[in-house]
Amino acid sequence: MSLSSFSYWQALSVPDALKILHNEQQQVKLLAGGTDFTVQRKEGLWQDKHILDIWKTKELDYIRESGKSIQLGARTTMDELIDSAVIRKYAKPLHLAACVFASPQIRNRATLGGNINNASPAGDTLPALFVLNAKLKLSSAKKDRLVPIHEFFLGPRKTLLQPNEMLTEIIIDKLDPKYQSDFYKLGERNAVAIAIVNLAVCRKIDPRSHKVTDIRISYGSVAPTVIRAPQTEQLLLHQTLTESLINKAAERAQSEVSPISDVRASADYRKEMSASLLKFLLKNNRS
Ligand SMILES: Cc1cc2nc3c(=O)[nH]c(=O)nc-3n(C[C@H](O)[C@H](O)[C@H](O)COP(=O)(O)OP(=O)(O)OC[C@H]3O[C@@H](n4cnc5c(N)ncnc54)[C@H](O)[C@@H]3O)c2cc1C
Repeated sequence: MSLSSFSYWQALSVPDALKILHNEQQQVKLLAGGTDFTVQRKEGLWQDKHILDIWKTKELDYIRESGKSIQLGARTTMDELIDSAVIRKYAKPLHLAACVFASPQIRNRATLGGNINNASPAGDTLPALFVLNAKLKLSSAKKDRLVPIHEFFLGPRKTLLQPNEMLTEIIIDKLDPKYQSDFYKLGERNAVAIAIVNLAVCRKIDPRSHKVTDIRISYGSVAPTVIRAPQTEQLLLHQTLTESLINKAAERAQSEVSPISDVRASADYRKEMSASLLKFLLKNNRS
């Protein structure tokens, strides 16, 4: 990396970072934990970009609980998600996603904001954030805007973040104790693996009627972006989760995913696994 070919800024506050983004516009690439950035820069991506390092912007490092939601600063790391009692209690899929993320060294640096903005269809926190109805606060020097996570991704590595904006906060719904929720990652190994399929599910069952009163299902690595499975959710809503209904839902989920074949798995295998994992999570209450 030639030092003469780029400028490097280190922001210690959000206003500082936003000012630099405002002044430099297209030329700047944000650097948080650097776990994606450094690999991608070595591969030749972002060579023409100046770097704005936000790792030391401590005001973006928080997990706060208020009313029915939780606010997370974009600089929150995977380790911090794992250690948080609030996340364990009210956002279990996100806790579980962080637990199976990479390796201890990476979890210590990898941020939630970086995982979202890397916009990989296999990003492990993303299905969890989808079922937690995450909203993303995108900030520029002039204004903040809130975007539901399902609108944020335009394709692999493409988002609607503008060059003068950064992600500052993620707001998620708290799952009350009546919800059962889960996350599962199928990879080639148990650690440091990119997901072949990852899946988050949360559901609320009425204790008297045993019917499903809310269900959210989200898949990663089976479409150009992480997706919800709305038709499968619709099939299960207001029904009792019998074995035959769960089997039907698994078939429906297969028709909602559109995976590709790559070095990790074939499209057919991903489709099969999308169905099997859904059955597994719906039949086994692992809470
Ligand atoms: C060995 C290894 C194992 C990995 N394992 C996994 C895994 O198991 N699961 C998984 O999902 N990922 C994995 N990753 C990918 C990576 O660790 C994650 O995507 C991580 O969350 C990125 O966070 P970061 O802070 O390091 O981001 P960075 O590398 O600093 O940035 C990533 C991208 O996000 C942008 N960005 C960062 N912060 C912001 C912000 N606040 N606003 C706007 N844009 C921002 C950057 O410009 C860049 O484009 C792995 C990577 C490596 C190298």
